Amino acid sequence: MGSGNGDGVFGWPRRGLDEAGYNYYPIFYCFDTVDAARQWEIVVTKAIEKWQLALYPYSGLRIQLHPYCRGNSYVTCNQIRSPTDWFKIEDGGGEGSSSSSTGYDYYERNPYEKLTLRGYDARTHDMLVVDCAHELGHTMGLGHEHQRPDRDEWLEFHCNNLAGASAAHDDIDENGDSDIDFIGLNHDQRFDMACTTRDKAERYFPEALSYIKYEYLGYPWTNFEKDAGALDVDSIMIYSTWQAIDEEPDEENDFDYAELFYYDEHANLAAIYQGGNLRPLLAGPTRRNVMRVIYLYPKWDGQAD
Ligand SMILES: [Zn+2]
Repeated sequence: MGSGNGDGVFGWPRRGLDEAGYNYYPIFYCFDTVDAARQWEIVVTKAIEKWQLALYPYSGLRIQLHPYCRGNSYVTCNQIRSPTDWFKIEDGGGEGSSSSSTGYDYYERNPYEKLTLRGYDARTHDMLVVDCAHELGHTMGLGHEHQRPDRDEWLEFHCNNLAGASAAHDDIDENGDSDIDFIGLNHDQRFDMACTTRDKAERYFPEALSYIKYEYLGYPWTNFEKDAGALDVDSIMIYSTWQAIDEEPDEENDFDYAELFYYDEHANLAAIYQGGNLRPLLAGPTRRNVMRVIYLYPKWDGQAD
């Protein structure tokens, strides 16, 4: 998390000077290993491009390979001897989904401040680019749109359809009676706690953590999310319908199995696609995503002193 020492709204990243002496916010990255660079370089470059094309010229943010790499992605993080800062991009293997810390601190080397890309063999190239663009949003400091405190005004969230729901039910049945917080609650109430509170999700239902409202997680950007206006259903920072479901539906697009969806202006069930398009090549940051980033990383016109 940001330490508050930087110039950004949340303390990250530090303001820098570009080659011409203009102020900007550089987010520097490097790769963990040469293998990670070999595998992910093109995906990362394209994901950065999705953001930069949307942000230019309105924001001072720039995501760049660390200057000490001199344009060569194969110069890995551990080869950078300078005490300047970066976030590390690593390969997390084939299982699970990609992840990133939200925001990062330029002043301390926190090992949790990294971006882990996964699923290289399981997904198409264009899907990986969307994945990575989503994770870069976290690195900039953006949270999930579907974890906003007011999300229930806009979305249907069916916790019971999440992957891990049956395991959570079993765990609560087996061990719930010895949980002091569950005294006096029936099974459904206990399961509801596992869907909505941090402690119980961590204990019984870790898959639900990415759906718990931010106000119950105590993250520093909560207040900002409250003022965000109408929910951005096309956001690059929202989860797609069926993204984390427990069972494969018999028919494609079966909303009975969906964990997250909404009702459109005609009151019809509507699917959510991360980045606003079923086709990943066309998905990307929305205007609202861009507005948020501009708020976090404004642009300076003037030259530095
Ligand atoms: Zn995410």
